[in-house]
Order: sequence, then C-alpha cells, then structure tokens
Amino acid sequence: MKIYRAYKFRLYPTEEQKILIHKTFGCSRFVYNYYLNYQKENGVQKSFDLCKDLKELEKGHKYLKEVDSCALRCSIFDLEDGFNNFFAKRNGYPNFKSKFNRQSYRTNCIRSNYKGKEYSNIEVDLLTRFIKLPKLGNVKIKGFRDKDKIKGKIVNATISRETTNKYYVSVLVEEDILIEKVTPTTIVGIDLGIKDLVVTSDGIKYGNLKVLMKYEKRLKRLQKKLSRQVKGSKNYLKTKEKIARVHAKIKNYRKHYLNDIANEIVNEHDIIVTESLLVKDMFKDKKKVFNKSLSDASLSKLCSLIEWKSKIKGKIYYKINTYYPSSQICSTCGYKNEKLKDLSIREYDCPKCGSHNDRDINASLNILLEGLKLHYNLVSIV
Ligand SMILES: [Zn+2]
Repeated sequence: MKIYRAYKFRLYPTEEQKILIHKTFGCSRFVYNYYLNYQKENGVQKSFDLCKDLKELEKGHKYLKEVDSCALRCSIFDLEDGFNNFFAKRNGYPNFKSKFNRQSYRTNCIRSNYKGKEYSNIEVDLLTRFIKLPKLGNVKIKGFRDKDKIKGKIVNATISRETTNKYYVSVLVEEDILIEKVTPTTIVGIDLGIKDLVVTSDGIKYGNLKVLMKYEKRLKRLQKKLSRQVKGSKNYLKTKEKIARVHAKIKNYRKHYLNDIANEIVNEHDIIVTESLLVKDMFKDKKKVFNKSLSDASLSKLCSLIEWKSKIKGKIYYKINTYYPSSQICSTCGYKNEKLKDLSIREYDCPKCGSHNDRDINASLNILLEGLKLHYNLVSIV
C-alpha cells in the first residue's frame, strides 16, 4: 500500500540562506496575491494558463527570477486548491496572504535520469545531516536521530518560519509499505477521558495533560502581561515571543504524549475499541471537564492516531456507537445501576453480583465487550 508520511526537521540556514528563504516567502506571497486579484477581476482560470502567464509576469518583475521558480508555481496550485475548496463549499473565498502570519513556501521534488544515475532537486542525507533544496543548496537539519535513511520517494518540501523565529522543513514522502494483517489474539477497550484522558480495559490509566495545564496557566499570565504593555514596544515584542514559545511547547508536548499513548496501545493489542467521540459527547458533564476544548482536541487527535497506526500495522480499530452510558452497566453481570449517574462515584460494589468495579475500567470493559460483539457480527442487546 502507498502511504504519505511527513518528516519535519528543524532547519539551520546560514545568514545568506535566510535572506533567500525570506525572498522566496515574499515572492510566493506576491504571486499568490497577484493571481488572486487577477482572478477576482477576470474570473477563475486554469492554473496551467496562470503558470504560462507567470513567465510574462517574471519579465516585468525581475526579482521573481532570483527565487525557486517551482515555489512560485506551487503558490498558483495552492490558490487553485483554495478556489476548489470554495466552490465545493468546504471553505470561504480565498484571502490575501499577509506577511504577518506564519511564513512558508512549498517546492516540488523533480527527478531526472542521466546515464543511469538518478538526480533529484531535493535530497535528505541523514548521515551528514543536510537537506539539499532548490536554489538554497545544502542546509543543515536536525531531527530523526534514530533513522539513517528516508525510505521512499520525496514528493515535496515545505520550508517555514514559525512565530518563534525557528525554521523548519517538512518533507513529504511516498512510501510503499507491506501491511501484514495480524490474526487478532488480544483486544482492548478504551474509555476516553473525563477524569483521565485514557483508561484501558487492562486497567492502565493515562492521566490528563497536567503539564499542559501548567503551560496554559503560564500562557494566561503572559497574555495578561501583554495586554498591559505598550503595543509595539520592545517589552511587548519580548512578551509576544515568549507567548509563541509557550504555544510551541504545548503543541510539541501534546504531540509526543499522544503519540506515545497511541504507540503503546497499538503495539500491545490487535483489536482496539473506542467509543465514537460524537456519542461520547452526549454523556459528558460539560461543567466538570476542566479545559474542555483542550481535552476534546486531544481526544480526536488521539483517535485519528490510533486509527492510522492500526492501519499501517495491520491491526483492527473499531469505533462503536454506544447509545447507553457504558459506565452505568456492570461489566460482570450487566446490571444497570442508575445511582452511577453521579459522576463523583469512582468505585463501587455491584448491588447484583457484588463485584468491585472501578468506574472507568468498568466502562472500558463494556466498550471491549461491544467491540467483541461487533467483531463477531453479533446483534448487540442492550
Ligand atoms: Zn454486577
């Protein structure tokens, strides 16, 4: 099966390379905005025709010749995507790009064969830790220390400068992977977080993102500070950069934490069952969820990670729709205990069979049972 994987590296350009990168940001943005304006006045055109017109534009704007021409064509394709999304009602009308947002440009990988040897305008060398990019030449990179080679075909590279003043390159690679279907021998049910982010039917609990909450507090403090400072002053800009750094930390921490959880779950089990998040939301006591948006975003990200990792490892992932609160039913005897609507009860003895249940582990066991029923195509009896 063909899959696309993105490898993101920190980029360390020299001062000279930085100047060229910034020129390319500017030129890509200019081309994008120029053709957005052009199409506003003349109607939407095919990007093939616009690329032809770009050659004319370059004659009048000689500086466009200084940068990677492929990046300029990518701007035109991006604009076409923007219009397609607008016509398909997936998005609003394309906006002009501003230089105050995150800066980036994309360039496509072009390969050629000469005397049996393959040449390419983008190459990653993980041994010397350099990436070859069009016009820029070799740029130092950091990341993926555990790999010595990128397997697969490079499709494109996106060069960006984040608000933290750091440069990155994201390399999209097409990989051909062999997926061996696993004959399932283990199954796990997963209860998705109200108190803990994840509770598995094996009894493992992954806590909520306490570190994130610490960062969130720091973020609020800095934002308050920013609001009291003089806009545009030296200290204002300093605080702004600090805020960008905390944002980046939150993003990174969450990414790694969720990846670790998903890896552990998918590596150790063959069938993974979670509730569908839409249904989960119906039973959520919204007031009790601290930082609701934070935990919601994390949960949907986690589910998509589990789905993706299951797919490439040949495992099975079920999202089940339980139209009943899985935490109120005893996983041993099936007795429904209305008293458990009270979310403060974390542990209890079942009044019918006497088994001692932990609220969340019991819920994950019920989810596991629903997954088993689904797996063997049994009719679910509630
Ligand atoms: Zn019971």
